[in-house]
Amino acid sequence: MLITRATLVTWDADRRILPDHALLIRNGVIADIGPSDALEARYSQEERLDARGQWAMPGHIVAHTHFYGAFARGMAIPGPAPEAFPQILERLWWPLDQALDEEAVRLSAEVMLVDAIRNGATTLFDHHASPNALAGSLDVIAEAVRRAGVRAVLAYEVTDRYGKASARESIAENVRFARAAQQEADHGTPRQRLAATFGLHASLTLDDDTLDAAREACPPEVGFHIHVAEHEADEEDSLRRSGMRVVERLHRHGILGVRTIVAHGVHVNEHEMDLLAETGTWVTHQPRSNMNNAVGTSPVETMLQRGIRVALGTDGFPSAMWEEARFAYFVHKLARRDPRRMDGNTVMQMLIENNRALANLYFPRARLGVLEAGAAADIVLVDFHPHTPVTPGNLPWHLIFGAYERMITTTIVAGEVLMRDRELLTLDEARIAAEARAKAPQVWERYRQMLA
Ligand SMILES: [Zn+2]
Repeated sequence: MLITRATLVTWDADRRILPDHALLIRNGVIADIGPSDALEARYSQEERLDARGQWAMPGHIVAHTHFYGAFARGMAIPGPAPEAFPQILERLWWPLDQALDEEAVRLSAEVMLVDAIRNGATTLFDHHASPNALAGSLDVIAEAVRRAGVRAVLAYEVTDRYGKASARESIAENVRFARAAQQEADHGTPRQRLAATFGLHASLTLDDDTLDAAREACPPEVGFHIHVAEHEADEEDSLRRSGMRVVERLHRHGILGVRTIVAHGVHVNEHEMDLLAETGTWVTHQPRSNMNNAVGTSPVETMLQRGIRVALGTDGFPSAMWEEARFAYFVHKLARRDPRRMDGNTVMQMLIENNRALANLYFPRARLGVLEAGAAADIVLVDFHPHTPVTPGNLPWHLIFGAYERMITTTIVAGEVLMRDRELLTLDEARIAAEARAKAPQVWERYRQMLA
């Protein structure tokens, strides 16, 4: 396939912006790149996709999300509003995860995958929980991911809050799925769609023996994916349990490392940042979630200055990565009353450079997040026509102030067109929405029973 007449925003090392260019896609990879006229002449027999002057950019990568939260939309928490994050966990997320059966797991994933494709998200790191539909739940999600055609890195969150038998079962689910992902026919090719991390909920719901059992069971090529210090309660719990702060406790149990992702890190101190930097552990930042839960402003600029690789996730919010980036750009300025904080280039360091470096660890043959010959053909077309000059230097601010997900018209993963001119080609959006609407009252009723 030849994508013609696009303005390429390459996100290569020079941030080249190339008007009226074309991309040749073969076997899931960008095989050639050049001016439209030249490539149209060179590949005259190739099927065309005319971009009509739209921007072509690498698809978005979501470094931390939760498909399973889809049924929370519009759901009221009975009684007075939760006063802090621990009550939000106890009164919203934990009863909701217990309310999910296998059909709800499938529909949650499908709803979130429709959202991902519409928002141009082509690779997602999911963190799943459904304790009453546990065994095989990652297969249910993987099947939806395969049908959708995006790339996803799946994990089941291990926790002790539903007892030791459930914790053991969830460890087994992670191990089983990590092996299954390696057996996929496209594993280790540019077309690879599935990979695994080893999910852990958070220090505050994990006993020492479960952390050790997870460490022992985790395959060497797989990293952990865990919430860390999202609220002070996680640090207080860890100090009570172990005399150590959360990051130190996880380090003692062998959880940190170059493939491990810790989400949030809002309340980590200097010593914990040193440990994260020394071990090469990834941190994900989710400003929309942090604002919504009122947990604080994560010190991500300090982390980046210390060499910690901070990536950007959504934590179950819509996979609208320009929106997430915009919140990152704004919230640090407001929190510090300083407009110099969180420079546009720092936002892009997370959104573009760090997200793709993380994704490329888990899809090592795909070269995600850049448009150049040899890179994966994970591409979005954006109906974006700025009214002032766009340069490599001002590109971050054009995106932060001018780019909206509603402008994304076409989403392509490994050369497969998942949405063309806003029409979804792999998922039946109307069927999924209708099934989810029919299922929601049952999920909400189960939620109320679990809450009681
Ligand atoms: Zn999360």
